Amino acid sequence: WFCHRIGLPTGSGGVLASGGTLSNLMALVAARAALDATPRDPVLLCSEDAHVSINKAARVMGLEEDALQTLPVTPSGGLCLEALADRLTTLQTQGRPCLAVVATAGTTVRGAIDPLSELAHLCRDAEVWLHVDAAIGGVFALSSSHASLMDGMELADSITLNPQKLLGITKASSLLLLRDRIHLRKAFSTG
Ligand SMILES: *Cc1c(COP(=O)(O)O)cnc(C)c1O
Repeated sequence: WFCHRIGLPTGSGGVLASGGTLSNLMALVAARAALDATPRDPVLLCSEDAHVSINKAARVMGLEEDALQTLPVTPSGGLCLEALADRLTTLQTQGRPCLAVVATAGTTVRGAIDPLSELAHLCRDAEVWLHVDAAIGGVFALSSSHASLMDGMELADSITLNPQKLLGITKASSLLLLRDRIHLRKAFSTG
């Protein structure tokens, strides 16, 4: 129902978890499993205002100390696109793979929304997985008066969305939605 409501295509799907921290972790594990070969020393990119759970995910996944690279935000608090484009080019020059770009739709401190559509196009061009941490802001997509704030979220490869935050659900709850649910199976199926 959520996949449909936020505009993900046929073939999308997801899984529930007890919090956004776990959904973010699963998203990044799925991103890694989606690659043909496990890359050496991959990097994760996000803004300096991304949630601390991205850092935790990098540690749980056993990534290198310098794997999480944060990028500056603009005065309004969204990830700086020029900085991201530059960093992607630098990584390419260094031959260092980028596992995923993590965008935030509603940062924890300021509520800022990264430029989702532009990020999605940048990531598509660079063939990098885009995860949108919409733990806070994702539910705006359900509101006809505010849905445009989430424009571009539906282009992501994976999305974290927390009913326990702005929907006021009192049970700890989070959704991980994938553009192609096959990646959940690839990462976690035990047969
Ligand atoms: C709260 C939050 C999370 C983590 O969610 P938990 O349910 O507390 O694990 C992830 N990302 C953002 C942006 C958040 O605000």
